[in-house]
Amino acid sequence: MELDLLPLGLPSDNERPFVIAGPCSAETEEQVMTTAHLLAKKGCHMFRAGIWKPRTKPGGFEGNGEMALPWMAQVKKETGMLTATEVATPEHVELALKYGIDILWVGARTSANPFAVQALADALKGVDVPVLVKNPVNPDLELWIGALLRINGAGVKRLGAIHRGFSSFDKKIYRNLPMWQIPIELRRRIPNLPMVNDPSHIGGRRDLIAPLCQQAMDLGMDGLIVESHCDPDNAWSDATQQVTPDVLDFILDRIIIRDQMQTTENISALRKQIDEIDDALIDLLSKRMRISREIGQYKKEHGMTILQTSRYSEILDKRGAQGSLLGIDPECIKNIFEHIHEESVNQQIEVMNR
Ligand code: PEP
Ligand code: MN
Repeated sequence: MELDLLPLGLPSDNERPFVIAGPCSAETEEQVMTTAHLLAKKGCHMFRAGIWKPRTKPGGFEGNGEMALPWMAQVKKETGMLTATEVATPEHVELALKYGIDILWVGARTSANPFAVQALADALKGVDVPVLVKNPVNPDLELWIGALLRINGAGVKRLGAIHRGFSSFDKKIYRNLPMWQIPIELRRRIPNLPMVNDPSHIGGRRDLIAPLCQQAMDLGMDGLIVESHCDPDNAWSDATQQVTPDVLDFILDRIIIRDQMQTTENISALRKQIDEIDDALIDLLSKRMRISREIGQYKKEHGMTILQTSRYSEILDKRGAQGSLLGIDPECIKNIFEHIHEESVNQQIEVMNR
């Protein structure tokens, strides 16, 4: 995948990931300045705050708009921190730049809409500002890449991606499911694209911030964007997921950054074993398919149907239980066997219709 990229050039402490911290929304001048000063005292270099807030339902606080932009300029002047905000329309881009916002991000609802992203890209032509593109709300990697291509196509080279999780009807513990395989695949396809993790919108809960930050670092992400508020319980938006600057500092202090080069050397012997096991797995699967085809031949000669439901349920239950005894999630085993069974059925269909 070809993107024309330059380093983001964002400040961070030595080898550590960079962190953009600040409230979900810029609520009042006092809340913005108090939070910013507390964060700056903890050594933060970049301040986030939402000026225009996309809300799921009408009636919530939708941001102060232009009125809040001078507060951001004041943050920069008084603390030296760079400022970042979300832009969703060309008008937002124009205003954010007019007030000297340093970093722009495209929100998850916007990156899901190619018309909106293209309008943003057109507004960004000829502007040299770092832009971070959040994943779309739906788990669609192509759409995320499409948004990155549109913004890059406008000449924005200081470009990065923010992983903020994917919305789903079935939330379980997360507000937005992390589906780590999607950012991992993005990294595989565009290795030089900086990746930022947003544990606040993935977790939706304060107690999930620390473990999500650690997971993101373990996957080699380059930075974090975390919601932090001087008085989280009374935040006007996303109260349950915001942490005080003190708590954020406590969390960041405890993140373990693992050395990638070191691990590569240490685990190469283990990886070799994994490769051998994968070879054996594929070999076994091909043997299993050969037997399936023989069964298909037998069923054909005896006028039997391909799908024998009771046998299928028996396999799923038996193997699921076996997996759980060996410390593997029975659901995972069932999923694997569903795929294997599907391929067996396809192979038998081919034998029967030959
Ligand atoms: C936010 O960062 O406050 C925000 C609205 O995020 P998202 O676009 O990920 O929902
Ligand atoms: Mn938020």
